[in-house]
Amino acid sequence: MRIAVTVSLLGLLAGGALSAAEDGADLILRHGVFHTVAGGTVEGSLAVRAGRIAFLGPDAGALAMRGPKTAEIELAGRAVTPGLIDAHSHLAGYAFELGNVDLRGLETFDQVVERVRAAAAKAPAGAWVRGRGWDQNLWPGKQFPNHAALSRAVPDHPVYLTRVDGHAGLLNAAGMAALKIDRSTRDPEGGRYLRDAAGAPTGVVVDRAKEAVELLLPQPSAAEMLPRMQEAAANCLAVGLTTVTDMGVDAATLELYDHWAARAPLPLRVAVFLADIDPLLAEWLPRGPRLDPQARLQVRGVKMYADGALGSRGAALIEPYRDDAANLGLSVTGEDHMAAVAAKALAAGFQVGVHAIGDRGNLIALDALERALGGPRPEVRWRIEHAQVMRLQDIERMARLGVIASMQPTHATSDMGWAEERLGPVRLAGAYAWRKVLRAGGRLALGSDFPVESIDPRLGLYAAVTRQDLRGNPPGGWLPEERLTREEALRGFTLDAAYALFWEREIGSIEVGKRADLVVFANDPLRVADAELARVPVDFTLVEGRVVYRRQGAR
Ligand SMILES: [Zn+2]
Repeated sequence: MRIAVTVSLLGLLAGGALSAAEDGADLILRHGVFHTVAGGTVEGSLAVRAGRIAFLGPDAGALAMRGPKTAEIELAGRAVTPGLIDAHSHLAGYAFELGNVDLRGLETFDQVVERVRAAAAKAPAGAWVRGRGWDQNLWPGKQFPNHAALSRAVPDHPVYLTRVDGHAGLLNAAGMAALKIDRSTRDPEGGRYLRDAAGAPTGVVVDRAKEAVELLLPQPSAAEMLPRMQEAAANCLAVGLTTVTDMGVDAATLELYDHWAARAPLPLRVAVFLADIDPLLAEWLPRGPRLDPQARLQVRGVKMYADGALGSRGAALIEPYRDDAANLGLSVTGEDHMAAVAAKALAAGFQVGVHAIGDRGNLIALDALERALGGPRPEVRWRIEHAQVMRLQDIERMARLGVIASMQPTHATSDMGWAEERLGPVRLAGAYAWRKVLRAGGRLALGSDFPVESIDPRLGLYAAVTRQDLRGNPPGGWLPEERLTREEALRGFTLDAAYALFWEREIGSIEVGKRADLVVFANDPLRVADAELARVPVDFTLVEGRVVYRRQGAR
């Protein structure tokens, strides 16, 4: 019903665009190379009117739409792609991290202490100071820290600093006092408060103890988060992202989005998936998805977790880990629960996306989705998030069911150094197997999972086509038969990502009638050398024909 309304509205606006010659275009991009994704590459000019692409073709056709108020950008042969789309990301999580002290890459604990001390000096009295990204493997001795030096340097602010992998945290003395953590605190199941020789807590909290700590920390208010969301959006636009996702949000984060959207249209498009938590779903499913005729903020998905992650051996495997013979990983959500939630989501018109990393995680996820769907139902556009390690028959089955593979190229290049240690050579055949997904007839929606990885989609494009790190290793690429072509990678970050969000009628390709979300590159991302692809400069980013980012010096 709502989809039908959107379609007829699109028809109306596209019809309106046909009369653009009379009124003049709002913007003309002239003399460019347009990688349309939907219809090959077009050399010529593009005209925008009322936020939509009104013309694409020979220069003369666009220039005939010049009016007194028409702005123009001379591309001088520069390449233009559709606005890039991250099909799996966590915008609010990224925004939250922007407000925390960045400790990544620091090479001693003293440097960590100094950076936190400087931040605390600027924080209001008694306020929590949060940091992220310390890694004792970079420090001399590689030992977990003890809070003592931190507590001496920052005595008056409670401090909490997370480790780079998100599986450990560090509190100072004021932080432990605020949370009432002392030598009498007991370790929870699956977690630890590390202790010194005398039995006193060192401030380091691991796994379930870390989770318990984080539940007690004060959350920033919507008003505090708003400037961070603006900054996060601006950072995304600066790297060519015009549409992102927020996979698995709670009620507080939804409120934040409402608060943001109530003030002004979001500066970029965000598709939100709800977390599988009650009472959130009990409240949302009967109400139905929230669609947006302006395609700025949409809530029409439910996100579930089949298992954990491969790095921490939480991914559920059918056979044990090769480097941990007793370990099959962790099943986070059982098949029955997943199937039941999926059935309710289906009845209510919601998409379902299931996080599945290991081959058993993917097997359980597909079993649950198939049970709820009753057979192939491509039109509902359900998704497996990550689809990272799969049996070959499950890759085929995913395609047959019409389930979209939502995958992150940079995960492959981040994990390639140790994935074989975890999995052994045989299971690698179905690991990060983008090309096998395509060959099976499946659809690839690409993303980054930021803030786990960088927000920058150029790194995703580079990883997708090279399967190498930024220094070009390993030569030829890791499992090179899974590399994508430039065109396939671009499609995964544009049209097929849009499809995975039900937005392919609005965005994702450069076609007359679509919203003019565009990226102008200084060099052509489909033609530069591999090594250049990861850093090809973005000159302009446009959302609905408005320049929302311009690189300094670009013209
Ligand atoms: Zn994620």
